[in-house]
Amino acid sequence: MSSASFGTAKDEIRQAINIVDLVGSYLDLRRQGSGYVALCPWHDDSKPSLQVNPARQIWKCWVCGIGGDIFSFIMRHEGVEFREALKLLADRAGIQLTQQKQRPITPGSPDDKAALLAATAWAEKQFHEYLLKSEAAEVARQYLEDRGITPASVEKFNIGFSPDSFTWLLDRSRNTPHSPAVLEAVDLVGKSERGTFYDRFRGRVIFPIRDAQSRPIAFGGRVLPSSKDQGGKYVNSRETKLFSKREQLYALDLASKAARKSRHLTVVEGYTDVVLCHQFGVDDVVACLGTALGEGHIPLLRRFADTITLLLDGDEAGQKRTNDILELFVTATIDLRVLTLPDELDPADFLLEYGATQFNQLLKEKSVDALEHKIRVATHELDIARETHRASTALEEILATLAKYAMARGADPKSLRTQQLIARLARQFLVEETFVRERYNQLCQVSREAKRPVIVTSAPASTSQIPLRPEFKLNAISMDEIELLEILVAHYELAGTALSELGELDLSADATKVIFRTYRQLEEAGESLDFGRVLAEIEDAQLKSLMVQLVEVADRKASKANLDPPTRLRHLLQKIHRGHEQRIIREKEEYLQLPEANDQQKHDVFLEILEAKRRQQGLIAPTDG
Ligand SMILES: [Zn+2]
Repeated sequence: MSSASFGTAKDEIRQAINIVDLVGSYLDLRRQGSGYVALCPWHDDSKPSLQVNPARQIWKCWVCGIGGDIFSFIMRHEGVEFREALKLLADRAGIQLTQQKQRPITPGSPDDKAALLAATAWAEKQFHEYLLKSEAAEVARQYLEDRGITPASVEKFNIGFSPDSFTWLLDRSRNTPHSPAVLEAVDLVGKSERGTFYDRFRGRVIFPIRDAQSRPIAFGGRVLPSSKDQGGKYVNSRETKLFSKREQLYALDLASKAARKSRHLTVVEGYTDVVLCHQFGVDDVVACLGTALGEGHIPLLRRFADTITLLLDGDEAGQKRTNDILELFVTATIDLRVLTLPDELDPADFLLEYGATQFNQLLKEKSVDALEHKIRVATHELDIARETHRASTALEEILATLAKYAMARGADPKSLRTQQLIARLARQFLVEETFVRERYNQLCQVSREAKRPVIVTSAPASTSQIPLRPEFKLNAISMDEIELLEILVAHYELAGTALSELGELDLSADATKVIFRTYRQLEEAGESLDFGRVLAEIEDAQLKSLMVQLVEVADRKASKANLDPPTRLRHLLQKIHRGHEQRIIREKEEYLQLPEANDQQKHDVFLEILEAKRRQQGLIAPTDG
């Protein structure tokens, strides 16, 4: 195995893995012309729309408008961030990633993640086979049948059963590589004060919890109704090296496949709810793991979905918790819808009683956006005319959330939608509209001054100077900058000239700045600037997609361009400099209009403008002749 740090690993991995082999191991590739095609996994594809270009080592789908390299293929397909894709591909290529300050890990020890994963996979199999084959598991099989869970679902979710014994799993592990210490590290066994190990799951139906790559990493155990166990209805694995309940969701590996096309996920409360939803064909459903939906779940959810529907049981607790969750989602800018099931039914009961068609219909028609839900909860059973104190508290709470929501999204407090909401609130709470509006504006002010909300961002660290989440889209870039990038990707031998003549200030689009910065960093590191190398260096999937678009356009244009590339670049650099000067002049002219600038300042700025205009003419002059 060779060894590489993260920096050079990108290049080594890129050289080691052929995109045709990689994509071919996931999709059915067919030869077409000089490349390959496959059915695109990200849209409902009937003719193969996903193209793989072996010469450029890129893929793209014109229908989805996305493309990329080996890294972003894995990012999208496995739903992982760049770092994780890098690790997966390094494994595949047999390249060992070295990280600084890492102490050596003894294989098979509790520090060895591979050993932990092997142990959880082994245990999952033991529990599952015990459920299927053991006579003593009849009571568990009966329980699952009573809950309406079919044998096919038992298979799909690898449901298992642990016999009511303190040593069953430990005994079975005796002649395996899975030591008690490793089993303890994944919380399958506990250790008593006297130092003896014991099984953590006893007499429970076992729901394996899997990560996004379908590897079992933890377990949820449900007690049987007949059991005298006092350990609670559910026992979940505690936090381990593999498992964090605040950052993982049950059945995400299965649901993410369904969410790929719909970009929607439904979050329910229990394991059996998830199992039954999938069993009824509603397969974009996940559950939280013994914790409420929280901040840690959002990055994970955002990878797969733009809209989340939170399904609540009709009970009181569900109603109350919505307020906490709502605030979180409001500041984290994700579209959240809420559905409360009727008659205090949970999703499993509802499906068994009414079926999937009604369930889907309810999801579509009865879910409301998080804000509407908040209004409904706040005004539920409230006599606004009589209970004035409760009513004004409720109104204040709604306005505060609304203000936070508007500020977090950078929304205009005077927007039509806001005005409509304010009018509606005024009507509902029997208050003057002007009063509601004034209070709302005050709260917006408070929110603005409070600390900035946490914006979940997928942008790589190297783009940290650019605020919020920049949109890396082709149509956000000026024609001149697109042409500049085209020349860079198609004629990297000219990159040196562009880098020495242009600074980031000369550029206006975020995407151009980040790409340009990447070229500069590679140049300073003495690395190659060819397209594949630069593409591998960029970590943002959207930006990779944009690079692929650029190189395709550049390749098509190459034969048609009537000027040689160095001349095109020279003209372009002049135009870009001129554009930058013009922006400066515009800003200064705007400054002259400001009432607070004094005469001396205005005079100075005026001189600066004159000078800039002269400079500009100097720039233009040579091309005129
Ligand atoms: Zn597609």
